[in-house]
Amino acid sequence: MIQAVRGTKDILPTDIGAWQALEATFRRIAGQFGFQELRTPVFEHTELFSRGIGETTDIVGKEMYTFLDQGQTSLTLRPEATASIVRAVIENTLVEKNPLLRLWYMGAMFRQERPQKGRLRQFHQFDAEILGSAQPEADAESLLLAYTILRAIGLTAFELRLNSLGNTESRLRYREALQAYFRPHISGMSADSQHRLEKNPLRILDSKHPEDADAVKGAPLLTEYLDDASQRYFESVQKILVALEIPYIADARLVRGLDYYCHTTFEFVTTRLGSQNAIGGGGRYDGLFEQFGGKPTPGIGFAFGIERLLLLLEEEQKTPTSDTQCDLYVIALDDESSPLGMKLAQALRLRGLTVITDALRRSFKAQMRDADRTKARFVAIIGEKERLSQSAIIKNMATGEQHEMALEDTGTLYQVISGTEKTHIDIR
Ligand code: AMP
Repeated sequence: MIQAVRGTKDILPTDIGAWQALEATFRRIAGQFGFQELRTPVFEHTELFSRGIGETTDIVGKEMYTFLDQGQTSLTLRPEATASIVRAVIENTLVEKNPLLRLWYMGAMFRQERPQKGRLRQFHQFDAEILGSAQPEADAESLLLAYTILRAIGLTAFELRLNSLGNTESRLRYREALQAYFRPHISGMSADSQHRLEKNPLRILDSKHPEDADAVKGAPLLTEYLDDASQRYFESVQKILVALEIPYIADARLVRGLDYYCHTTFEFVTTRLGSQNAIGGGGRYDGLFEQFGGKPTPGIGFAFGIERLLLLLEEEQKTPTSDTQCDLYVIALDDESSPLGMKLAQALRLRGLTVITDALRRSFKAQMRDADRTKARFVAIIGEKERLSQSAIIKNMATGEQHEMALEDTGTLYQVISGTEKTHIDIR
């Protein structure tokens, strides 16, 4: 038996209703904010991610699914969406056509992490980006969209943590301060942190190694190194959030895993999912376009992990459903009646009803059981007698009431089954 690859999951028909309901909410709300969908390929040149996300990050350092294709080109299954979206925007000159782009994306991402609850190797994200604005309104809108979506799907057990990484100058000064602070401690710290000290000391703050915890706790805070312009920017963002009544917690220790962030950075966290507590996150990335050879274009965006949202919804007993209702189940009593049954089913589908027929040539009893299983509201029964008179017995499964009706009169059949038929005359 060949099994699914570790860290991947089948999404079964019993679960798909929840996925579809979430996806519909993402689409609807992103659309209400004026965001448009952009779809990029599942794989890209490896360089896009190594350059865009950063060589010293966990993603690039140890989690990418990278392979050589038959032509010896190094390709990588995308570990996240932002780099691909920025590439697509540059390549298709989208910013030149519209100075403010609002884009969303939904799809599978791939990271070779150690699988556990809420952590997969193929997982799914919903992602939204605002490109072209270096104003705090864009940061606030991005946060408002994320917050609106979380509330719309019914989540309450989450917190928004917010920080600013400041501009490049502030980050450089902070970087030096961090290096000076960690140097005396570094020999007792993890190999990962030792490796990061010179290349990317900010990432040490993200360390999950217990031997790093004490040193990290005492590290200087980035907020102390923000220059006036960065400080003012952060304050403007917060002012809008307060006006919009979006609750948040300023968290001076929040630095996110990817290299390309500056200024606003944020994470939505929950206490309900154990160690995989991040349900989504994002931030501003003003230098990414230049890194990819595009003209300078500021950007801000976020991504939600769909599996984690679903786990949290389950935890809160709010898993959404989107049951498709079966309007009619057509039962043919013999092989010769079945083409007639299929024809009836199709005529009513073309009018918009959901109609199921049997494809197993089962007995009447077995088909009735199947009609019950599909929760059909009506059944149509066609046997030899009905075939000869070109009719069907239409049975209402809730009331048990049944009538023989002419097959050619699909208009009346439709009215009865869809419930639009006038069943009584109002004599007020
Ligand atoms: P990131 O791109 O790392 O900021 O991730 C954004 C969101 O994607 C996280 O907050 C998680 O909800 C989700 N996510 C990231 N990695 C995984 C994974 N391996 N499995 C499931 N969800 C993930």
